[in-house]
Amino acid sequence: MQLLEERIRKDGIVRAGNVLKVDSFLNHQMDIDLFNEMGKELFRLFGEDDVTKIVTIEASGIGIACVVAQYFNVPVVFAKKSESKNLDGDIYTSTVSSFTKNKVYDIRVSKKFLHKEDRILLIDDFLAKGNAMLGLLDICQQAGATVVGAGIAIEKGFQEGGELLRKRGLRIESLAIVDAMNEDGTIEFRPQ
Ligand code: 5GP
Repeated sequence: MQLLEERIRKDGIVRAGNVLKVDSFLNHQMDIDLFNEMGKELFRLFGEDDVTKIVTIEASGIGIACVVAQYFNVPVVFAKKSESKNLDGDIYTSTVSSFTKNKVYDIRVSKKFLHKEDRILLIDDFLAKGNAMLGLLDICQQAGATVVGAGIAIEKGFQEGGELLRKRGLRIESLAIVDAMNEDGTIEFRPQ
């Protein structure tokens, strides 16, 4: 998606450790006009797939998922990272190891909100090693739901997540795929 690539080139900052900082428009301050364009594009790609629910992971996926969901007219469910007294009853859980925080954490979704009849579109801001997506897939699988695919804002194509998940048969549509982040701060995109 050209608009997103242009924005990454303009405002993305390459950080040590293969981290791309996009907090001025994607995951801290959020550009809702851009999110709307992402929603339109993901609806163009998944609009025929009878999506009944969008599933994401807190925190950075939530904003994107909510805007995208308006194009699909479906609810958003986000996997919670912390235990909470509000999360009562039966829950699905999975364990995820975090790329940016270098730690392992549990994610949880109430069984009330995922059903075997659901057709789920997974959404996240980044795809790196694929662990967040694997955790969400695991939870959807536990619910017996069908995952129609994953809509990702930025895939870092030089990390293994995309290949790993596509090999497992998951349809992944990434709106921008970064193939290289150079020492001089320049970013190379995969032609799409
Ligand atoms: P994965 O689980 O695929 O290794 O990483 C995906 C998660 O890590 C995303 O939910 C995202 O929040 C975070 N992440 C991975 N790489 C980056 C990055 O380069 N920049 C930022 N801002 N977040 C990232």
